[in-house]
Amino acid sequence: MSHREVICRAPVHEDRGDRSRLSATISMPDEDQEIWFEGPAAHLADRTAPDAFALAVLLPAMRVADHLVIEAPISPALRANLEHLQDVESMWWPDRLRRVTIDAATLEPPPTRGSGTAAFFSGGVDSSYIVLTERERIDALILIHGFDIALDDTELRLAASRHIGEAAADLGLELVEVVSNLRDFSTAYAYWLDDYHGLALACVGHALGATFGHAFIASAILRDRPGPHGLHPVLIPMFGSDRIDFSVPDEGVPRLDKIAVVSRSEIALRHLRVCWQTPGAYNCGTCSKCLGTKVGFLLAGAPGSLDRIATLDSDVSLEAVAGISFTRGMHNLAQANYERAVAIGADPGLVAALRTPLERMEVDEARERISRDLALALASPTAAELVAEHRDLLFATLWGRHPAWTLRRTVTDLPRKVVGKAASLLGR
Ligand SMILES: [Zn+2]
Repeated sequence: MSHREVICRAPVHEDRGDRSRLSATISMPDEDQEIWFEGPAAHLADRTAPDAFALAVLLPAMRVADHLVIEAPISPALRANLEHLQDVESMWWPDRLRRVTIDAATLEPPPTRGSGTAAFFSGGVDSSYIVLTERERIDALILIHGFDIALDDTELRLAASRHIGEAAADLGLELVEVVSNLRDFSTAYAYWLDDYHGLALACVGHALGATFGHAFIASAILRDRPGPHGLHPVLIPMFGSDRIDFSVPDEGVPRLDKIAVVSRSEIALRHLRVCWQTPGAYNCGTCSKCLGTKVGFLLAGAPGSLDRIATLDSDVSLEAVAGISFTRGMHNLAQANYERAVAIGADPGLVAALRTPLERMEVDEARERISRDLALALASPTAAELVAEHRDLLFATLWGRHPAWTLRRTVTDLPRKVVGKAASLLGR
């Protein structure tokens, strides 16, 4: 078997006035790539910078190689955590991520813990809840350009800088803005939400390790939910080093309870940002996340709070709510909205509209299950009996759907040429 390795070169630290840039060349088996972080000079780590890159390349190495070389020494605690992460990720993704051997020296003496506490902040419900409830413990907010805000989305980047900057100033907190290409680097090797998102936040934390010893990461995922998930609470402590560690202070708090807290903060209402589907838009107001959040404020927010969100319209059209199609991740939020609406005796029209997409999802799931079970049933001896009994119905259905295929597969005593001609006339 050929030996494939990934080499993480020693990072380069460049000062550019009050901003600095940390970068490292990553030699993947087929090409060299660069990962970079740019941020305030006062915060960007020097001695512990290799930690950010070592963590960033772990999953890509597990995806494409069997050996990982980290050229600069890293934190001993992170070195141990890389092995714990390999245990979890290789169990979650046995077909995609395999253990690698790691060649990495450790820092001697180990780095000491930073003193400040930061919170990753996007303006969303989860991170706003953390900032409002943990305000006394937080020194700074971290806003990242290049993760859920695309690097080339200039309009959204400007709006986010302005809103989050004002929120930080109003809260009396420092705002640390970091720009990075880490997400762009990761897309060839990892799934952002399923396995990379949380780890990428931690990489930014390590890049900022010059000052912060602790950082809060928001996660709507519950510990008892089976993985995999990139922000799963069991993973978060494994992202830490001797210098900085990470925790999820909002773990287990239902989103509607967070909305109840956020809805009482005029600062949060002025800068709320929940949309992650529409380029350029701070909040589009119409995607499943925007609509679900508006309904959440209507059901659980302080009276009138929905109208006071400066960054999101207050339209809750029942037709739009009934028409929402959501991904699996959004299903829990939709279910919670529906259950709360029933519990508080909300307007029957709204209750019905909230129930509609949930029912549609149940039907889709049932159809998937039946189709799976049908494949098993057709392989059994009773299938022959069933087919014989319902021959006419089966033929009519197949003919209606796939006439050419049905003709080819069922007519066996006509010459192939005749069947082929007929099939081509049928057009399919
Ligand atoms: Zn939206």
